[in-house]
Amino acid sequence: MGEYAGLGEVGGKRVLVRSDLNVPLDGDRITDDGRIRASVPTIRALAEAGARVVVVAHLGRPKGEPEARYSLAPVAARLGELLGSEVAFAGDTVGESAHETVAALSDGQVALLENVRFNAGETSKDDAERAEFARRLAELADAFVSDGFGVVHRKQASVYDVAQLLPHAMGTLVSAEIDVLRRLTDEPARPYAVVLGGSKVSDKLGVIDNLLGKADTLLIGGGMVFTFLKAQGHEVGRSLLEEDQLDTCREYLRRAEESGVRILLPGDIVVDTEFPAGERTPQPQVVPASEIPADALGLDIGPASAADFAAALADAQTVFWNGPMGVFEVPEFSDGTRVVADALSRTRDHGGLSVVGGGDSAAAVRTLGFDEASFGHISTGGGASLEYLEGRTLPGITVLEA
Ligand code: ADP
Ligand code: MG
Repeated sequence: MGEYAGLGEVGGKRVLVRSDLNVPLDGDRITDDGRIRASVPTIRALAEAGARVVVVAHLGRPKGEPEARYSLAPVAARLGELLGSEVAFAGDTVGESAHETVAALSDGQVALLENVRFNAGETSKDDAERAEFARRLAELADAFVSDGFGVVHRKQASVYDVAQLLPHAMGTLVSAEIDVLRRLTDEPARPYAVVLGGSKVSDKLGVIDNLLGKADTLLIGGGMVFTFLKAQGHEVGRSLLEEDQLDTCREYLRRAEESGVRILLPGDIVVDTEFPAGERTPQPQVVPASEIPADALGLDIGPASAADFAAALADAQTVFWNGPMGVFEVPEFSDGTRVVADALSRTRDHGGLSVVGGGDSAAAVRTLGFDEASFGHISTGGGASLEYLEGRTLPGITVLEA
């Protein structure tokens, strides 16, 4: 029997753990088990301390009722393999099956409940409805551990409300994530560079806004770069463009200049005449960022820009990266992302901290074959880390501190 930090003795107790097990599936095959692996240390620590561990999690976006394709059953099997012991799977979340499964647990055993989002109460905007569902969840346990970093920015029953009903503690994953994010916001080691990419500017405006006052250099690539290029007066052909964000981008460029923050935009772009899809062989072409042809789409930063970005990152002591530099899923448009990831992976060679945030960015690092261990930290929660960096409070964290 043993203790768990923040909860004291947990031997023989039923401990409900909110994990983030929302992995990509192809049928019932898990294509990337990163989130399951990241959840193992907390579950294992509790099991080793003799707790009866009851894991609750979601998968995908079912509409508040059971839907076979979003079942967590394949995840239970994989979790069991990673733990090296069988994980009992309950066919519902708070029903008969859940109660029977939990009652059958011995000390040190682990159960996984079926997808929490099969219950409308989980994500309900109605406080009373959410609280009622949380009450039913709480009946299954004596204590609660919050370890689903990917959902701590959500005011949901299994994240927020249940913590108000049970003795609670932070899991090791959530506390590691929060520690790293603090290092990005409270007196970061300088030079501090932020690399932003991905598909939409509007997703990342809050971060740009907040980091303009903190970072030394902001490097921008990916689909969001075209709104910045257009804001500078360049034509961007058929590239991704958010017309309604042009003024905001202009404002950011102006503020950066005023405050001495360097914003680096790519000088060359890899374009094609069609978005890569289906059977067609991509025909990449490199053009200056100021001369994107009217019929072309920008799909990656060019080789000269990738080299510039890598050079700008070479002496950084703190780097945060969110959003791929191009459509990295297609090999012809993955070079910019690869070069930037490679530069980040070298940050620790000179004692710096590199942090990768965002689901697709983390997937890019893995699919491009990088060793995860060469990065300082790969965040499991894109939205949560962005909201933290925007300076917002995360309900799932605040509730634990109360
Ligand atoms: P993250 O999940 O890391 O936060 P995003 O979801 O913002 O990243 O963006 C990831 C997506 O952006 C990828 O699927 C990638 O293909 C796409 N993307 C990157 N560059 C471009 C581009 N130039 N045009 C269109 N899509 C792009
Ligand atoms: Mg994404």
